[in-house]
Amino acid sequence: MAKIQMTTPLVEMDGDEMTRIIWQMIKDELLNPFIDLKTEYYDLGLKYRDETGDQVTIDSANAANRLGVAVKCATITPNDARVKEYNLKEMYKSPNGTIRAIMDGTVFRAPIIVKGVESYVSGWEKPITIARHAYGDVYKNTEFKVPGAGKAEIVFTGEDGKEVRQTIFDFKGSGVIQGMHNLDSSIESFARSCFNYALSIRQDLWFASKDTISKIYDGDFRDIFQRIFDEEFKDKFEAAGITYFYTLIDDAVARVMKSKGGFIWACKNYDGDVMSDMLASASGSLAMMTSVLVSPDGKYEYEAAHGTVMRHYYKHLEGEETSTNSVATIFAWSGALRKRGELDGLQDLMDFADRLEKATIDTIENGEMTKDLALITTIENPKVLNTGDFIKAVRKRLEA
Ligand code: NAP
Ligand code: MG
Repeated sequence: MAKIQMTTPLVEMDGDEMTRIIWQMIKDELLNPFIDLKTEYYDLGLKYRDETGDQVTIDSANAANRLGVAVKCATITPNDARVKEYNLKEMYKSPNGTIRAIMDGTVFRAPIIVKGVESYVSGWEKPITIARHAYGDVYKNTEFKVPGAGKAEIVFTGEDGKEVRQTIFDFKGSGVIQGMHNLDSSIESFARSCFNYALSIRQDLWFASKDTISKIYDGDFRDIFQRIFDEEFKDKFEAAGITYFYTLIDDAVARVMKSKGGFIWACKNYDGDVMSDMLASASGSLAMMTSVLVSPDGKYEYEAAHGTVMRHYYKHLEGEETSTNSVATIFAWSGALRKRGELDGLQDLMDFADRLEKATIDTIENGEMTKDLALITTIENPKVLNTGDFIKAVRKRLEA
């Protein structure tokens, strides 16, 4: 059988621990036998990040901006323990944070839905994708305890020396105070990433905030979304048959719970933090969440939402059998291959991505799965496979 050809390489960002092992297995079993795989390879494993003083992470993000589509393996974010374990020269920042900053991107997360691993919300038939704004608000706040009676003010001093001053509160006793900000440029990028991604997957976009209470701050978010939609995306949405819908966050939550799914929900930073955890736990398993970083001008980086599964890796190193779920990492590859095929007009590459996802889902729905899913499935007598055998079972279906 002739292998499927590619024209433009994918940016391949290799990673750490158990997911690095899975990464190689997926390439060996599910990709290389079927595709003449072209990638520009960057080793984001912690050892090589340390050797290059983290330059490799920056290079890989620039490559993603240049080539347009990347696929990333989970990576270790160093902490004190990791600095010791890997004898690091410094405590490098999170690679995801570095890449997100260089691509100026927004992260979209969605569960992979299979029959037999049911959502706790029985009405959700299709995945709900959450987009979280990743800049500012309470995550870049200034706050302190007010010791006792006194006047709290908020002051802005312009470059021209002009002051804007407002009283926050006349304290009669002790309390707390907080100041926070956001940037129109960041909100605009967030909005463009959301509108582009909605077009890319042809789903409606919802956005919500608390603009009834926070009339100026949240009102700014609402107005920027509306302006960018009207100026740049309205016609494209109409042509694609999708809609943009703004509502109050309380109303959005109520509607989401009663919905059938199948849309993108754009959230402010804090809402996205909370709601993505809600969505992930309602969907059953962290190992079944996909994640894609989308830049405002439509560059994509696909990955799994989970980490490097360290505990399994140490078992693996001790020669013990592991049953680590590779589904989200497989979907990171299929997502990237499909997008590459779409951009380069390669129908057979897009079809392969569909077949790979179907083979993966069919394997689980026919009762063959890793331990994490076997523990929660409604399928009777599931067959628990180890890490490698699950990937081999998917290959069997892919070949069939
Ligand atoms: P984790 O790798 O997501 O794993 C946490 C636990 O969740 C695992 O021990 C396992 O539970 C379960 N789990 C997660 N993914 C699984 C899978 N594919 N198959 C089966 N079970 C799975 O999080 P962590 O252990 O807190 O973090 C490990 C490293 O990952 C850290 O160094 C962190 O910095 C990094 N991290 C990277 C990313 C990223 O690159 N995007 C994201 C998060 C964390 P059981 O042990 O109970 O089986
Ligand atoms: Mg959270």
